[in-house]
Amino acid sequence: MAEQTPMMKQYLEIKAQHADAFLFFRLGDFYELFHEDAIKAAQELEITLTGRGKGDERIPMCGVPHHSAEQYMVRLIEKGYKIAICEQVEDPAVAKGVVKREVVRILTPGTVVDKRMIQEKENNFITSITDFADGTIGFIRTDLSTGENEVTLLNDDVQEIIQELTSSRSKELVVDPQFAEEKLAQIKQAIHVTVSYEENADIISDYVTLTEPLEQKKLQTTFWRMCQYLVRTQKRALNHLQPVVYYPANSYLKIDRHSKRNLELTETLRDKKKQGSLIGVIDQTVTAMGGRMLKKWVEQPLIQQEVIEERLNIVENFSSFYFEREELRDELKEVYDLERLVGRIAYGNVNARELLQLKRSLEKLPAVKSILEKMSKNYSERWFSQSTSYEPLIALLDKSLVEDPPISVKEGGLIKAGFHEELDTYRDASVNGKRWIAELEQKERQLTGIKTLKVGYNKVFGYFIEVTRANVQLLPEGRYERKQTLTNAERYITPELKEKEAIILGAEEKMEQLEYELFLTIRDEAKKYVVSIQELAKSISEIDVLIGFATVAENNRYTKPHFSTENKVNIVGGRHPVVESVIPKGDYVANDVQMQAEREMLLITGPNMAGKSTYMRQLALIVVMAQIGSYVPAEAVELPIFDQIFTRIGAADDLASGQSTFMVEMLETQYALTKASQNSLILLDEIGRGTSTYDGIALAQSIIEYIHDEVKAKTLFSTHYHELTSLEESLDHLKNVHVSATEEDGHVVFLHKVIDGQADRSYGIYVAELAKMPTAVTSRAEELLFQLEQGMKQMPVAASTPFVETVKEEVAVAKEEPTQLSLFPEPAVEIKKEESLTKAEKQLMKKIKEVDVLHLTPFEAMQKVYEWQKSLK
Ligand code: ADP
Ligand code: MG
Repeated sequence: MAEQTPMMKQYLEIKAQHADAFLFFRLGDFYELFHEDAIKAAQELEITLTGRGKGDERIPMCGVPHHSAEQYMVRLIEKGYKIAICEQVEDPAVAKGVVKREVVRILTPGTVVDKRMIQEKENNFITSITDFADGTIGFIRTDLSTGENEVTLLNDDVQEIIQELTSSRSKELVVDPQFAEEKLAQIKQAIHVTVSYEENADIISDYVTLTEPLEQKKLQTTFWRMCQYLVRTQKRALNHLQPVVYYPANSYLKIDRHSKRNLELTETLRDKKKQGSLIGVIDQTVTAMGGRMLKKWVEQPLIQQEVIEERLNIVENFSSFYFEREELRDELKEVYDLERLVGRIAYGNVNARELLQLKRSLEKLPAVKSILEKMSKNYSERWFSQSTSYEPLIALLDKSLVEDPPISVKEGGLIKAGFHEELDTYRDASVNGKRWIAELEQKERQLTGIKTLKVGYNKVFGYFIEVTRANVQLLPEGRYERKQTLTNAERYITPELKEKEAIILGAEEKMEQLEYELFLTIRDEAKKYVVSIQELAKSISEIDVLIGFATVAENNRYTKPHFSTENKVNIVGGRHPVVESVIPKGDYVANDVQMQAEREMLLITGPNMAGKSTYMRQLALIVVMAQIGSYVPAEAVELPIFDQIFTRIGAADDLASGQSTFMVEMLETQYALTKASQNSLILLDEIGRGTSTYDGIALAQSIIEYIHDEVKAKTLFSTHYHELTSLEESLDHLKNVHVSATEEDGHVVFLHKVIDGQADRSYGIYVAELAKMPTAVTSRAEELLFQLEQGMKQMPVAASTPFVETVKEEVAVAKEEPTQLSLFPEPAVEIKKEESLTKAEKQLMKKIKEVDVLHLTPFEAMQKVYEWQKSLK
């Protein structure tokens, strides 16, 4: 192999330290990527792959201009990659040999704070887990844009880790390189998360105060790993990190990720839109911070009754103050994203505009407080107990920054006149100089008689006097000094002009420098308020969410839910918040739900499209809403506090996930059956549809029985298998309900009304008719249905019949062979048409038909079978 160039050597050395990231290597005006990085980046970014060097030594290379590099970085980060940005850290003009280069920052999906890469109303959490010898796992999530740090302990259970990662919507997970590989593989298989490694979990003295609130060493260690990683990748002080708070992981209503998806809590199943999800309906927040907090609440509803009721009581109080509420919303609308603003202040990338946003937000505080005080005397205490006064900061920002400062903080134009004496002097010099130049143009035009003479400026030559070629001969000899010749004009200077130029440019340069320095002192002043503003931001978010709840409650006629200690569900006139919002007003058919004692489980039958799935989801959504402290769509609601919600959709219905296999359905049901407790809510929607009818029914029945006898959770089970309705007789806590439909003029009309008792028929064929299926198909189907129904009457479906027992055994056997996807293959009986039977077979058939079974002893039966077999050999 040929000798490496010194630059390539440097590249390879740096790359070796950043193997898991794209190395953006600064070369002049470009960031270049080499080798594998280049090949992969060219593919991902659809840019041209070129090469460096010749012949065999040619290495793959691709590059992006430094000024437009960000857009490419954004795309790679969105795809879950990491990027190490390597800059030239000395001036190439003075460098001896290869210019010194260093990685100045590592961008990763979990640590980006760029507005283009993160969602306004969503936290961007990076997470880290640390496993301890005692079988516990420390879990931390940090949002670098807001500085939040939340830590908890989990059991050493991959599902629990996945659950926590999902509810944190983590994009990146930091682990010790020693972390168990197979566990990591399971996590990666379950969710899209970029994995990063950090070996070091040592204390960093600069951040020690952040861990003071933590009592446990394990929680601290968990934080330190995260902190080490952040410091290593960000390469700057992280002053805005907030003290680490402990959150108890299982103090929330647990909803596993499939159920969250199914229930469309924060986004729709199909196109992942907020519109059409629960949050799409109930988000009436007016600040980005409030939006983020609401999302967190929906991801993690509460289980502590007092805390839920505290929220509900505030909503109730807010509900009775219409005008104050609207006033408050108007004020809050003008509050910017305080959390992210202070994040930028601490991070050192805040600009003057954003400092003014901070000022305007803080100026809203007195009004916000006084409106709240009108509603309750307690609110100041609850939300604004801190002693910090923001007046000095507001005053400073007010007198220092101009109304409409530029985005850049290094090019001057930020600081108000009168704020700083020296700055004013420079400014005067510059202004006077410019005035002198403006007057020069007038003066010279008069003196030379050249009307088109003008004074101009460019970066290379500075100020000049320009005379068009046609007029050059009018100039008195030696009046100006010639500087530059253009095609149509000559440019000149005079010593006096250059003198003024020096004053102006000198003053401007000093001004820019001084303005920047002043800006930094202002920013540092603001930095002192970071911690208290973060606290303030929390209060504002909470107020915003709760005001939003009151607003939604009023707009959509929601009611306050109550929690009973009797473990009963009693919903009067419940509605599905999302479905109700998309159909014409008043069209939604409200339904009651009663679950208690002899109706702990409801078996829901009814035709397709009747509203079974809607009814089930409606209950789950009401539960979630109630447990985040929101009013609910119903007339009256009494609920227990649920600990977990499970929803499973039958494979045939679960098209959106793209993995509509029966195996997945079974795995998910298994999860519900093993994890649910007596205080859980289980929704099983058409389970068993993914297989043939008999297995489907058998399986559905045994699942129902298992929940009934063993799990005892409140359960809604929808099915189109009418055979299952007979279970009501054998199971004490199960009740049949059905969604009614009637026929009018031979067409089915869905009433969407859920009432006790079983549905009389399936109406599937009517739905086919509604769908304009050819009449030949539907009438033939009716014929077949009739025949099938006759046959079905002999199907054994009562509890614990031998048939079901056999199926259970089959299930047990099949479970030991996980690769076998179809758990219940159809029996491979070959049924021949009568014409094609042999003579012996025909005779045999005749004999079988003639046997009088009731008058046969077992021995005679055996003998007959023996003879029959012989006749076939
Ligand atoms: P099923 O699960 O019984 O096949 P769905 O619950 O999917 O039926 O409901 C089918 C459609 O009927 C829904 O998309 C909705 O538009 C409408 N629907 C369901 N329940 C109601 C209701 N209570 N009031 C009004 N429309 C309803
Ligand atoms: Mg359905």
